[in-house]
Amino acid sequence: SLALSDFDPELADAVKQEERRQQDHVELIASENYASPLVMAMQNSVFTNKYAEGYPGKRYYSGCEHVDVAERLAIERLKRLFDCDYANVQPHAGAQANAAVFLALTNPGDTVMGMNLAQGGHLTHGNPSNFSGRLYKIVPYGLNPETGLIDYDEMERIALETRPKMLIGGFSAYSRYKDWARMRSIADKVSAIFWVDMAHVAGLVAAGEYPNPLPYAHVVTSTTHKTLRGPRGGIILAKGQGDDFYKKLDSAVFPGTQGGPLMHVIAAKAIAFKEALRPEFKTYQRQVVANARAMAAVLQQRGYKIVSGGTDNHLMLIDLSARPYTGKEADAALADAYITTNKNSVPNDPRSPFVTSGIRIGTPALTTRGFGIVECEQVAGWLCDVLDAMATGVDELTAVRDRVREEVVTLCRRYPVYGPCMC
Ligand code: PLP
Repeated sequence: SLALSDFDPELADAVKQEERRQQDHVELIASENYASPLVMAMQNSVFTNKYAEGYPGKRYYSGCEHVDVAERLAIERLKRLFDCDYANVQPHAGAQANAAVFLALTNPGDTVMGMNLAQGGHLTHGNPSNFSGRLYKIVPYGLNPETGLIDYDEMERIALETRPKMLIGGFSAYSRYKDWARMRSIADKVSAIFWVDMAHVAGLVAAGEYPNPLPYAHVVTSTTHKTLRGPRGGIILAKGQGDDFYKKLDSAVFPGTQGGPLMHVIAAKAIAFKEALRPEFKTYQRQVVANARAMAAVLQQRGYKIVSGGTDNHLMLIDLSARPYTGKEADAALADAYITTNKNSVPNDPRSPFVTSGIRIGTPALTTRGFGIVECEQVAGWLCDVLDAMATGVDELTAVRDRVREEVVTLCRRYPVYGPCMC
């Protein structure tokens, strides 16, 4: 067989460059992580060849006995990880898990309440450009503009007024604990389904570092590739809701919204869940939070505003609305210095989501490669150096960028992405 570099040199080169980028840049995108070598290897297995429409023991194709083992292991491990009695591991991604929840539990045209995308929600929670916003009547809730915290009293007021069929908890950019009990009580007051999309914090929840929504939510979805550190994918979980409810969820995934499951990815999910059940995973998640707090402290000492005043999880939003540059420009300048972040709207952002007045940063990836508090404080300092320099002249920014880039590469090479921490 031909080596990739002989068969397809362009693609081989792209992979090599991406490996170098991941190695030499600090990855601060809060939704990214480095999957383990075993998780990656499992996706390269012969399971990729198998069609297995249906569920273990009830497939539409023959020859599924071995992929059944993989899917059963993934389900059992996932239930153990989150102490629940229902798990579906087939959604191809977070968006597919969310589509299945909508299909199973609501009808098009129903009123659904979700967190505003511009204030920390996700596209699939009702953004007009997404199927959720197009097919449902969405009533958004958001943050108190003074505190940057979720305004539960306002959420309750809106819910009582609009009586949604479903209330969505969960977020892509909120750095504080969510009060799941309060949200369930709001949902109960209007007889709504309470669904939590814990994609961002699933790893923290598994490790006991973030409040677990499962005792409160009727249904929980997640991605598997963020803090949970598995392959790219989605999951659906529930506890104590009964078989009829679970059947609705299963059939909303298949045949409702998907065809054949990705068995190589499901097997890789099983590996990731086994990894997450180990004590080392708890230590890792604790460090993720400690690192985020350390970065927030440096940013604040250097005069940068963190939305809500700090973080309780793996991420934070830096509010740049008082600075003479946009979130988009900050993102680009940092990327130039090998610090990868993403532009993000801040509460009451006057700029469009393509420009924004903030950036979002997170610690899951750099904690995986072994960075502790000292290294995270260093990175936060460099990030501030670049942002400070953006308010000066081009020459100053170029000089700072060159220095920071060199320091970033030196630090990153001390912590290889697939070094001892990931063995
Ligand atoms: N839900 C939340 C809260 C997310 O942050 C994301 C991704 O960023 C998703 C769902 C979608 O996941 P995916 O990109 O796997 O479709």
